[in-house]
Amino acid sequence: VIDIQHISKSFGQHEVLKDIDFTVHKGEVVSIIGSSGSGKSTLLRCINLLEKPSGGMIIYKGENILDGKHNVNSYRTKLGMVFQQFNLFNNHNVLENCTVGQMKVLKRSREEAEKVSMRYLKVVGMDQYVNAKPKQLSGGQKQRVAIARALSMEPDVMLFDEPTSALDPEMVGEVLKVMKELAESGLTMLIVTHEMEFAREVSDRVVFMDKGVIAEEGKPEQLFNHPNQERTREFLKRTL
Ligand code: ATP
Ligand code: MG
Repeated sequence: VIDIQHISKSFGQHEVLKDIDFTVHKGEVVSIIGSSGSGKSTLLRCINLLEKPSGGMIIYKGENILDGKHNVNSYRTKLGMVFQQFNLFNNHNVLENCTVGQMKVLKRSREEAEKVSMRYLKVVGMDQYVNAKPKQLSGGQKQRVAIARALSMEPDVMLFDEPTSALDPEMVGEVLKVMKELAESGLTMLIVTHEMEFAREVSDRVVFMDKGVIAEEGKPEQLFNHPNQERTREFLKRTL
C-alpha cells in the first residue's frame, strides 16, 4: 500500500532518519522496534505527514505524495493513527469522539457516522460506553476508543505509536488483545512497540531501527531468534 523511498528527516543539524527505504504491503502487520531515539516515531510521523520529510518519496497508489501536486489531506485520511497518549477529545463522549472526524472530514451524515462508530466500538468492546466521557474511562478503555475512532475513518493502514506504553500494566493486555484481533482480521498495520512478545506473535515482519536507519528486518522468527546484525543482537539482549 505504501512505499517509502529514500526518506530522510533532519531537525536542524540532527539527521534523525537517513535514507529509509521501506514498504508496507496490503494486509501486512509490520512492527518497528529499536532503542529510544532511534527514529521510530519520526518515521511514523513522516509517513502520515505529521512531520514533513526532508527528502525522499512516499509512493501511495503508484504516485508520489510529496511531489507537490497531491492533496496531502486526502492521503492522510487513508491512514489511521493511534498515539501513546490517546488524544481523545475530553469534552466529547465516546460516541462523539468516533463520529466528529467522519462527519467533518468524510462528510458522513450523523446517522451514518454513528452506525459506523457503533460497529467499531463493538469490535474493541466499548459499545457499552457510548455516553461516557474520556475522564470516566481507564487508560485501556480510552485507548480502545482511540482505536475505534481511527477505524471509523476506514483507513487503508493503521499506524500505532507505542499504544500501550502509557498504560498501567494491568491494562496492556486488553489493548494488545484488540490489536491482535485486528491483525488477524487482515487489517494493514504498522506498529511501533516495545512489547517484544506481542511483536513476535502478531507481525508478518519486524523492522529494527538503530540511529536513524533500518538496521535489519525480517520475519519475527528470523529477527528474534537468528538476527544477522550484531547491533540487533545487542538490542535484543538488552530488552528480552
Ligand atoms: P522512543 O522510543 O523514545 O519513542 P523514537 O525511536 O520514537 O524514541 P524519535 O522520537 O523518532 O525516537 O526521535 C528520534 C530523534 O529525533 C531523537 O533524538 C529526538 O530527540 C529527535 N527529535 C524528534 N522530534 C524532534 C523535534 N520535533 N525536534 C527536534 N528533534 C526531534
Ligand atoms: Mg517514539
